[in-house]
Amino acid sequence: MAEIAEVADGIYRLSLLRPPRGCVIHFIAGERTSLIETGPAVIIPGLLDSIRQLGYDPAKLDYIFLTHIHLDHAGGVGTFARQFPQVKVFVHPRGARHLVDPSRLIVDTKRAYGEKFEDQYGFILPVSEGQVRTLEDGEVISLGNRELRVIYAPGHCAHQMCFYDSKSEGLFSGDAIAAFGSNILLPGADSDLDAIIETHDKLLRLNPRIAFTSHRGALSDGLSAHIQAVRDNTKNCGDIILEALRAGEEQEQIARKIGSYEKEFIPAEYRLGAEELGNVISWYRNYFKKKGLA
Ligand SMILES: [Zn+2]
Repeated sequence: MAEIAEVADGIYRLSLLRPPRGCVIHFIAGERTSLIETGPAVIIPGLLDSIRQLGYDPAKLDYIFLTHIHLDHAGGVGTFARQFPQVKVFVHPRGARHLVDPSRLIVDTKRAYGEKFEDQYGFILPVSEGQVRTLEDGEVISLGNRELRVIYAPGHCAHQMCFYDSKSEGLFSGDAIAAFGSNILLPGADSDLDAIIETHDKLLRLNPRIAFTSHRGALSDGLSAHIQAVRDNTKNCGDIILEALRAGEEQEQIARKIGSYEKEFIPAEYRLGAEELGNVISWYRNYFKKKGLA
């Protein structure tokens, strides 16, 4: 059963799976009703129940906005859209063709989540081309009594978008400012460090009142300090790792350095676990190699 919470006027957070398996989904009860994300296919029945529990009919849902097409955010969009052909799916132009033909997406998902990801998450089904709409940076979509503005937010992946809600002055931030429980942005296989930092700077200038994050609930108190901290920690840890790699240091030495950085700058509850830390260091290592920096 979903936990449902109204997190701003007309915006409901639906939590159906614990992270990291699934992200939270937001339902916007505008004159035009919308979902931000669908989560993976396995939760679609629960998601439909939640929408009905809120007094809305999924067969009348207008829009699905996807921040990006990773499995935990959008794996179920094909399953949803097939059942409800009236719904329009908004996605970044670079994500659109992978929704219509998910064969590449399925290969990448197997690489990230394992060959048998379907057992846990359900199938990734195609979305019919006629239901997919692409969005440009800065474009505004009217929901009748409120508007969503598209903010391109590359970094976590090249095709990520955030959505700024005029009514709450809130930002649906996807994985742009915090993934899971960390104060370092955990980079993924298709992340770009420079773009992560640029996106943080862009969101700091935007200065939203509240952020509806995909893995950490709503953040309002100290939001800009939080974005600044994630930005700085992500950048500083990258710098520490790059310097260590150039000095020829081993994984263990690098992990100790990041560990002491965390002790100094990151509150205990947001520090990386040993496994995550190892993954992050490996990611930076591959990234700097690919860029020819180390
Ligand atoms: Zn993601």
